[in-house]
Amino acid sequence: RKGTVIITGASSGLGLATAKALAETEKWHVIMACRDFLKAERAAKSAGISKENYTVMHLDLASLDSVRQFVANFKQSGRPLDVLVCNAAVYQPTANQPTFTADGIELSVGTNHLGHFLLSRLLLDDMKKSDYPSKRLIIVGSITGNTNTLAGNVPPKASLGDMRGLAGGLNGLNSSTMIDGGKFDGAKAYKDSKICNMLTMQEFHRRYHEETGITFASLYPGCIATTGLFREHIPLFRLLFPPFQKFVTKGYVSEEESGKRLAQVVSDPSLTKSGVYWSWNKDSASFENQLSEEASDVSKAKKVWELSEKLVGLA
Ligand code: NDP
Repeated sequence: RKGTVIITGASSGLGLATAKALAETEKWHVIMACRDFLKAERAAKSAGISKENYTVMHLDLASLDSVRQFVANFKQSGRPLDVLVCNAAVYQPTANQPTFTADGIELSVGTNHLGHFLLSRLLLDDMKKSDYPSKRLIIVGSITGNTNTLAGNVPPKASLGDMRGLAGGLNGLNSSTMIDGGKFDGAKAYKDSKICNMLTMQEFHRRYHEETGITFASLYPGCIATTGLFREHIPLFRLLFPPFQKFVTKGYVSEEESGKRLAQVVSDPSLTKSGVYWSWNKDSASFENQLSEEASDVSKAKKVWELSEKLVGLA
């Protein structure tokens, strides 16, 4: 049978390119889990994904109710779940005031980390039940949260501190909107959310890999300088960033190429190792990358897991 893969944020950028790459193999049915139904349908159409290879289902990660509703709808569809890709993200690099999810949580961490945390916890049982030979749960990471790299050292650097803000609910009322308890900074909030993504993947691996056989993985797909992720950046940045990445840092990767990379992590028989953060070298060969000290800190991973459980209502 065809595999079923859920991809969040498949309406643009990396998610759409991955949906296309997988659908083209005719071996996958892609559930495009998106907040804007029409946009997703149009995106699928213009990418040339054929109708029998995808289904759009509504999911707004910035609402815990919507996450629960999505899970209920998916279960009702009767499809098995073989691979889940947590890809969607918001990035507000120039914001100096926080915005919030439906639940009153700072938007970047609320969407990128907590929405996905609840989603993957609620779908884990479905993955356990699937008889697919290689089940995988993939959380897209980033180099920007990884302070052992050059890009990860561009200020403001990611840091979770003692997580007093996360413990307080990131609501800006009786707690800070930043995980470490500091003053709001949109660029840092994104990087912090990506650290949480990478820590969550590893904690999943420690808690569930042996018992379930599911492969848990994260990746840095390369710098896809053309996606919507940079839509909120200043115009001059948006103009100069793609050529800068292409010619100066040479980290640039096209949307199509990045989609092929993520599709490999979904389905390549050689990428089944669990607990790994994949990256690609200049010749587009995959390798197991090292995470920074904070992004691989076992006790921080446990703490992020436990605090997140409380915030999303699982504990
Ligand atoms: P895009 O902005 O193109 O795509 C992000 C997707 O997330 C969109 O489909 C967007 O939906 C969706 N999304 C945003 N908020 C929500 C929400 N509340 N609920 C549901 N979906 C939502 O960015 P990219 O493709 O670049 O980013 C994809 C992933 O790649 C992210 O995890 C990012 O961190 C990661 N990444 C990107 C890099 C890059 O250089 N671009 C580098 C490293 C990692 P909509 O279409 O409705 O806006």
